[in-house]
Amino acid sequence: MKALFVEDAYLSTAEALVTSVREDGGIMLDQTCFYATSGGQPGDTGFLERDNGERIEIAGAVNGATKSEIIHVPAPGQPSPEIGEKLVLHIDWERRHKLMRMHTACHLLSVVCAYPITGASVSETDSRVDFDMSETIDKAEVTAKLMDLVNANHRIYTQWISEEDLDANPDLVKSKNVRPPRGQGRIRLVCIGEDAAIDSQPCGGTHVTETAEVGEIHIGKIEKKGKENRRFRIRFGPAPD
Ligand SMILES: [Zn+2]
Repeated sequence: MKALFVEDAYLSTAEALVTSVREDGGIMLDQTCFYATSGGQPGDTGFLERDNGERIEIAGAVNGATKSEIIHVPAPGQPSPEIGEKLVLHIDWERRHKLMRMHTACHLLSVVCAYPITGASVSETDSRVDFDMSETIDKAEVTAKLMDLVNANHRIYTQWISEEDLDANPDLVKSKNVRPPRGQGRIRLVCIGEDAAIDSQPCGGTHVTETAEVGEIHIGKIEKKGKENRRFRIRFGPAPD
């Protein structure tokens, strides 16, 4: 299965052929623009359109046994497609674009707050990033630095490196607990700024292509979760007074 979002995160629709339908109803395709839940970013929702215009509503997308397997999970009571059937895939683009903006905001936060990441979760309205840090940090200051990066409108692009290159540059990995998936020979880096001047880190998620597209964001709160853990919440819009 070809994961089209890896090369083009802006693909909201695509054509595909049904390769199999699992016993649990999960639909497998030859290619897809549906992102599967991974790395703290939720999978896409949307619908698959049949030739006669009938819709198969998709409640989510998840990985199967391997990363290269993406299961499209239908909502309850949806019709089941035939193997070999051609479908037009439509992701809920409004939702996905918010997730792309939020996911990119998490990368910007890791630039502003250069501590090891212990966890992260992206949603349409709110994202959280946990850092291994014991210092107290002012959320208004973090918000101001985040907005500086947004307003500078840095370019965001991806670049592939070999596993050997990653081994030679272990500092690229900011996540303390999660290692990038190995065994495919290459790792995708998400770079911010010309020549990755602002940041680069391994990531398989979907991002916007310029930091200004993130839009206005602020740190809603910073919670102390244990002596050496701080949980930051990123929200859209201006900081409330
Ligand atoms: Zn990412």
